[in-house]
Amino acid sequence: MGQQPRFYHDDDDWNTLAERLKLTPCPHCQRAGALVRHGFLYGFDDRNPHRKTIRARRIFCSNRNARPGCGRTFSVWAADTIRRLGLTTSGLFRFLRLVLARGLLAGIRDFRGHLSDRTLIRIWNRFRLGGSKIRTALMQRCAPPQLLLEHRPEAQVLAHLHTAFPDATCPIAAFQHTMRTFFV
Ligand SMILES: [Zn+2]
Repeated sequence: MGQQPRFYHDDDDWNTLAERLKLTPCPHCQRAGALVRHGFLYGFDDRNPHRKTIRARRIFCSNRNARPGCGRTFSVWAADTIRRLGLTTSGLFRFLRLVLARGLLAGIRDFRGHLSDRTLIRIWNRFRLGGSKIRTALMQRCAPPQLLLEHRPEAQVLAHLHTAFPDATCPIAAFQHTMRTFFV
């Protein structure tokens, strides 16, 4: 039995997951053989703040037509999206690097996204408070790089992320896909 999918990279990746749905156990009831596609979750993000994009695919554990499922649903997320945030992982990565380079207020100013200052401060705090959880997850993959002591902890988290996924187009998306958990 395969692991339950939580994230997909792109359409090809999603299609591979979708073909295996019949063999995949439901995360709620653990039964295999009942999962079916059940539509999409749409939302706005920094790709295009005026048009909704697909952020996740819904899966239904079917109890209809004598299927053995539990009737519950769950989502498999595009690896470059972040739940409850109107931001892609690459947008988030750009924002975090701006804040580390220039400080919070200048970072917010220079990010020039569609999000309010208050939302961006909340995102920064979410990242800051989640730092130790992220580092623990990264330790499963590799040791952190040696950094000078004057680097702040948040900079060390991003450096560790780079070391863990050196070839990724977006290291945060790679983190989510590999660790099967949201970055923030
Ligand atoms: Zn189920």
